Amino acid sequence: MFDYLDALITGFLGTVHWTWRSIIFDVPWYTNYFWGLIIISLVVWGLEVLFPWRKEQPIFRKDFWLDAFYMFFNFFVFAIVISGVYKVLGVLFSYMGINAQTLAVVDMANWPQWLQLLLFFVVLDFVQWFTHVLLHRYPFLWEFHKVHHSVKEMGFAAHLRFHWMENILYKPLKTLGVMVLGGFEPEQAYIVHFAAIAIGHFNHANIKLTYGPLKYILNNPVMHLYHHAYTIPKGSHGVNFGISLSVWDYLFKTNYIPESSGQIELGFPGDETLPKGFWGQLTYGFKKPKKEN
Ligand SMILES: [Zn+2]
Ligand SMILES: [Zn+2]
Repeated sequence: MFDYLDALITGFLGTVHWTWRSIIFDVPWYTNYFWGLIIISLVVWGLEVLFPWRKEQPIFRKDFWLDAFYMFFNFFVFAIVISGVYKVLGVLFSYMGINAQTLAVVDMANWPQWLQLLLFFVVLDFVQWFTHVLLHRYPFLWEFHKVHHSVKEMGFAAHLRFHWMENILYKPLKTLGVMVLGGFEPEQAYIVHFAAIAIGHFNHANIKLTYGPLKYILNNPVMHLYHHAYTIPKGSHGVNFGISLSVWDYLFKTNYIPESSGQIELGFPGDETLPKGFWGQLTYGFKKPKKEN
């Protein structure tokens, strides 16, 4: 019992301490997600202001501050709250004889660094694409994911507007992905994490960007805008589920970009009933979903 309590407290305090050290620049700059997130946000926001796709959209669009708050909440506050719990689960699994290496099928230790990073990026992106499909496919998961789809005007910070339960729902398959790859993150995994933040910010930015022929590999603002479309193709649970990569949607035929004016309604049928503020959204999704229409 003391092991669990100890894990809970050290996990929690460790993350508090790390976050604080990031804020005061006391960690290696390339692992500083606190200031890294702020810099990436300012750069992408600056590009939105300079090269807006929907020119009539205000710089401080609808829910700008709500989303700015979500960025820090999901990235840091929630991470601190949950870190102890994850540590406890680690202890529990190790008692059960399961450790990070149990499921390893790839031994990347002797691979070149760039190949390790690339495989890590691709595998983690795929499991997240799959999780995202599930969030749309199953009504009880969709209830939580509605918070992300409640964005009515799209801008970079919408990237991190999502229900805290999504952090938890994405975790099992992400952990499985890491375990399959040998149970540890490559030494320079921060490159992958920062790339994912930047791509995610761009995906939600008010900038018309498709990366030319790379659009079949990389997710982009045009493709992702249609993921947020109010009206989705009949009979589907959604389209363009890609996180950083678009290639999964092309492979599994869930890609759909009917036009590229950027002038479409965003949200979902019934979005007017979703709580508008953070506190309402925080507890949303746990009651049995009501029948819509
Ligand atoms: Zn979605
Ligand atoms: Zn989105």
